[in-house]
Amino acid sequence: MATRAAAAARHPAPHADARDPSLTRRPCSVHVRVPFLDLQAPHHELRAEIDAAIADVLDRGWFIRGQLLEAFEAEFAQYCGVRHTVGLSNGLDALHLVLRAWDVGPGDEVIVPSHTFVATWLAVTFAGATPVPVEVDPATYTIDPDAIAHAVTPRTKAVIPVHLYGQPADMTGVMAVAERHGLRVLEDAAQAHGARDQGRRAGALGHAAAFSFYPGKNLGAIGDAGGITTDDAALADRVRRLANYGSSRKYVHEEAGFNARLDEVQAAVLRVKLRRLDEWNARRAQVAARYAAALADGPVALPQVRQGAEPVWHLFVVRSAARDRLAAHLEAHGVQTLVHYPTPPHRQAAYAALAPAITDADPWPLATRLANEVLSLPMGPHLAERDVDHVAAALRSFDGP
Ligand SMILES: *Cc1c(COP(=O)(O)O)cnc(C)c1O
Repeated sequence: MATRAAAAARHPAPHADARDPSLTRRPCSVHVRVPFLDLQAPHHELRAEIDAAIADVLDRGWFIRGQLLEAFEAEFAQYCGVRHTVGLSNGLDALHLVLRAWDVGPGDEVIVPSHTFVATWLAVTFAGATPVPVEVDPATYTIDPDAIAHAVTPRTKAVIPVHLYGQPADMTGVMAVAERHGLRVLEDAAQAHGARDQGRRAGALGHAAAFSFYPGKNLGAIGDAGGITTDDAALADRVRRLANYGSSRKYVHEEAGFNARLDEVQAAVLRVKLRRLDEWNARRAQVAARYAAALADGPVALPQVRQGAEPVWHLFVVRSAARDRLAAHLEAHGVQTLVHYPTPPHRQAAYAALAPAITDADPWPLATRLANEVLSLPMGPHLAERDVDHVAAALRSFDGP
């Protein structure tokens, strides 16, 4: 969710009245030398192709459930190495509709990581089921298969491993636990387009996967967009129907569905950008390698890659017990950073009912600790080497904690 915050950073809330005397002691905002994410650069690079793709949609005059969606679905399925893709409105709907299509609902439990973007949990909540959080592996920040095994009850129907920050979860371990307990596995691949585990792509590692094509993701549309991948034809059909008012034939409604479709403009743009995904992921990997080399023995904990995993570096997340001071230090050097995520889902008001009395005994202390310590450095396929070096030098000059 890099970009929501990045967009917010570019369009900050209006400042309080500049004449307010309480503001005069504040330093004027520091010049941003290295922005967290450059959302313009990809579209500069592809502008002619994107313009042509959008013009093509207008010329066709067909905007919903057309040939461009079909083409994108086939191309993305092939890219991930699965039989089916269903294009959808966004990543949250993609997660939610798979759970619905599996008839996961009230009384059912779905195991989720304690440390993730809140949408992973919201999908479970919207399906009417109960999210059951388990802590992540402290080295890779992805779900711990042993923790899943301990959280299974007779009500558990599914588990949602999240390929957080672009690194695939330990899917061999997750699938083994799931098989033992008869659970469905839904990958949250919203941050992992193109990532591999044991040589296979995210999207092909569970029973189904949900993707977001939100603009700042590794494969991003020019608005909200999402989709699912699966080898299960019946599941793909049911999700497609649920996303189209519960209808597979016009004006015949087999069930109460939603409107959660991917439109032709987004599909057309995604087709253009899909052709660049591997190249752009490779550039992200170069940035990550450059950071890792420059920051070895530095003042922060670096991301760790699990054996067999090939991350796509949606984010480059470091850890420090002095995170807030570090972020301020970097900001003073013109480096924009973000936190993914500052409040764990179980401490959100939305989930107050889940953990009613979090006082001294936090049920998910690692999630809380990570929320206090993680910091995302600038990352993207268009980040220049000299900017990476500037960030690394600024970070190395930090003298805490
Ligand atoms: C972005 C994201 C989502 C939600 O996707 P949207 O398209 O924004 O609804 C879900 N899970 C994770 C891990 C994400 O990063």
